[in-house]
Amino acid sequence: MAFLSDTLARVKPSATIAVTTKAAELKAAGRDVIGLGAGEPDFDTPENIREAAKRAIDSGKTRYTAVDGIPELKKAICAKFLRENGLTYQPNQITVGTGGKQILYNALMATCNPGDEVIIPAPYWVSYPDMVLLAGGTPVPVVGTLENRFKITAEQLEAAITPRTKWFIFNSPSNPTGAGYNRAELKALTDVLMRHPQVWIMSDDMYEHLVFDDFEFVTPAQVEPGLYDRTLTCNGVSKAFAMTGWRIGYAGGPVALIKAMGTIQSQSTSNPCSVSQYAALEGLTGPQEFLATNKAVFQRRRDLVVSMLNACPGITCPTPEGAFYVYPDIAGCIGKTSAGGARITDDEAFATALLEETGVAVVFGAAFGLSPNFRVSYATSDAVLAEACTRIRSFCEGLR
Ligand code: PLP
Repeated sequence: MAFLSDTLARVKPSATIAVTTKAAELKAAGRDVIGLGAGEPDFDTPENIREAAKRAIDSGKTRYTAVDGIPELKKAICAKFLRENGLTYQPNQITVGTGGKQILYNALMATCNPGDEVIIPAPYWVSYPDMVLLAGGTPVPVVGTLENRFKITAEQLEAAITPRTKWFIFNSPSNPTGAGYNRAELKALTDVLMRHPQVWIMSDDMYEHLVFDDFEFVTPAQVEPGLYDRTLTCNGVSKAFAMTGWRIGYAGGPVALIKAMGTIQSQSTSNPCSVSQYAALEGLTGPQEFLATNKAVFQRRRDLVVSMLNACPGITCPTPEGAFYVYPDIAGCIGKTSAGGARITDDEAFATALLEETGVAVVFGAAFGLSPNFRVSYATSDAVLAEACTRIRSFCEGLR
């Protein structure tokens, strides 16, 4: 009898976490490493949020709470959905979990049966396909190409839907490309979904507040109210409020689904951290200026990184609408040999040689379902980004 479960054999560890770990190891060994792998803001959690957490501790908010969130936070989430997304949810339509990741996982665990298909636009966040596999479903990637700025079309979505399609996972702005769907682009997708009542929509709006220039963030149930009854609108405080370590995510959706997700949570993690829930409450109800300040910083960094990467021979880097990632195409580098003698056969070989020869850690595109590319997380200082891009440029210039 095997000790490890068959379920485990279906999934792999997160590639982004693997790169971050490798970079940390090299750094610990004394190498000059610049990590552009981690997907988290480099800012501290705002002071008002930290203070709210301290108050929660000092006033004894340190016990178990209701499994899927304290009532005050659920109320604040309802207000947020109405204020920012024009969506009306009642508190019994809200669930709070240990990060956005757990919310998505709960939803998939609560709904996937063997044979159920889940459409995932690629390039995708590394966890989607593996979470679907863990839940017993079948991931169906649909690839958004460089030519379409990494977005999928209505025709592609239509062609991927079958009678077994249970979910369509939508993520805009996207990790790893930063691509955002505008209202017309999203409406084209929701028009398709309106024709297929068996398909539910899981909208992962984690990067809602990180959109640049005059891009307007929209979410499916807002663009097509006809989908409200089969949409789970997911969000969280990790990226918007620089709260990755606090682990609070949330969603709004139909009561039966929210209840089912609560059952999964009640038998796995119980309530999310009580102190973090009070911190998130302050994030959602306190001053919001932090969001605009952050956004301006990220936009400046995006512009810096895009212009510097486009100056590298063999690299094409589209300008994304949001998040804090760029996803350059490296077709012009494949088949060459680096100054250090490495054959660049694919994007994994590129990322490995780049790390070994220059100390810059990026995540290779194959991990996200579209090659040859790599992902840069630009959630670090301008000076570090400029140095990293200079190293990437000299690496590319050295390719023969
Ligand atoms: N969704 C996307 C697209 C992400 O990039 C991440 C984190 O990287 C998450 C969800 C999960 O965020 P958290 O679990 O920290 O709330």
